[in-house]
Amino acid sequence: MSPSAFQDIVPESRVHQRAMLSNYTSMRTGGPADYLIEAASEDEICAVFEQAQKENIPVYIMGNGSNLIFSDEGFRGVVLHIGKAFSSIKIDSCSMDCQAGAMLAAVSREAAEHALSGMEFAAGIPGSVGGAVCMNAGAYGGEISQVLEHARVLVNGNVERWTRDQLQFGYRHSAIMDQTCTVLSAQFILTPGNREDIRSYMRDLNDRRRQKQPLQYPSCGSFFKRPAGHYAGALIEQAGLKGFAIGDAQVSELHAGFVINRGHATSQDIYRLMRHVQHTVFEQSGVLLEPEVKLIGRFEA
Ligand SMILES: Cc1cc2nc3c(=O)[nH]c(=O)nc-3n(C[C@H](O)[C@H](O)[C@H](O)COP(=O)(O)OP(=O)(O)OC[C@H]3O[C@@H](n4cnc5c(N)ncnc54)[C@H](O)[C@@H]3O)c2cc1C
Repeated sequence: MSPSAFQDIVPESRVHQRAMLSNYTSMRTGGPADYLIEAASEDEICAVFEQAQKENIPVYIMGNGSNLIFSDEGFRGVVLHIGKAFSSIKIDSCSMDCQAGAMLAAVSREAAEHALSGMEFAAGIPGSVGGAVCMNAGAYGGEISQVLEHARVLVNGNVERWTRDQLQFGYRHSAIMDQTCTVLSAQFILTPGNREDIRSYMRDLNDRRRQKQPLQYPSCGSFFKRPAGHYAGALIEQAGLKGFAIGDAQVSELHAGFVINRGHATSQDIYRLMRHVQHTVFEQSGVLLEPEVKLIGRFEA
């Protein structure tokens, strides 16, 4: 891969070669990416895909990296980081147009500032708009699918406007996951509310997180999806795995649904811990826990 392959498209300061992904993921693990490119415009995003296709280089889209476990070998190709450099938020009456890199915390803060209700649930989710649309992020009874009007999506070099129906939202799922496409922006429709009530509800939800979640440690939030009729955390606790560790990867003692990095965990430690939890919970309850996090690359069983 020629070093200048992307430097003609994106300014050098935003093209990082051999970038350690552990510096970009909330779990603080993951080896080097050949290239990590921080996109700042739709044109750049399109141009990176075009160039990568020409050179036959794989591209992985990363938002805020809060749900990603890259292997310790890293990623052979381009990790296209859609974050701070592409994060404008525009409000017009009850509608919010957000670029994919805008953080949910900022979106809900802005909504509250404009006395708009509907985004409170997202205040404590450490993801970007693009990642949240892809994952249909949700909490405390709220979900992206409830507030999204449409998303602008890059598909095979064309920008399309996808409605909520086209996005086929499900529990932590959207049609974005099933195809190679990129969320460029999203429009949310909110309802007028009382600014102080909105802020107070957001504070309340964030307090609940601080009490119940091990936020002082790196993690990906809930590691497993909620199995039908059960709670992953409760099943893990019942299997006696609260506090169980492999290396520095540990099932949180505060919330068994979280896997935390106590300091020097590798992605391989996390993978082995995940497999052990899945195996033990299955043996004891017959429920197969499915990861909510995305594992990217090669892991050894
Ligand atoms: C402490 C903590 C608490 C959490 N609490 C919650 C919670 O309450 N509810 C919840 O739902 N999640 C929660 N999460 C998980 C995570 O924050 C969400 O899944 C979030 O939506 C991921 O967004 P991201 O920008 O970090 O995406 P990433 O982790 O970077 O990526 C996740 C997926 O989205 C894709 N993606 C990212 N951006 C785009 C884009 N622009 N276009 C297309 N695909 C894209 C990626 O390819 C990947 O498949 C929590 C995580 C942590 C660390």
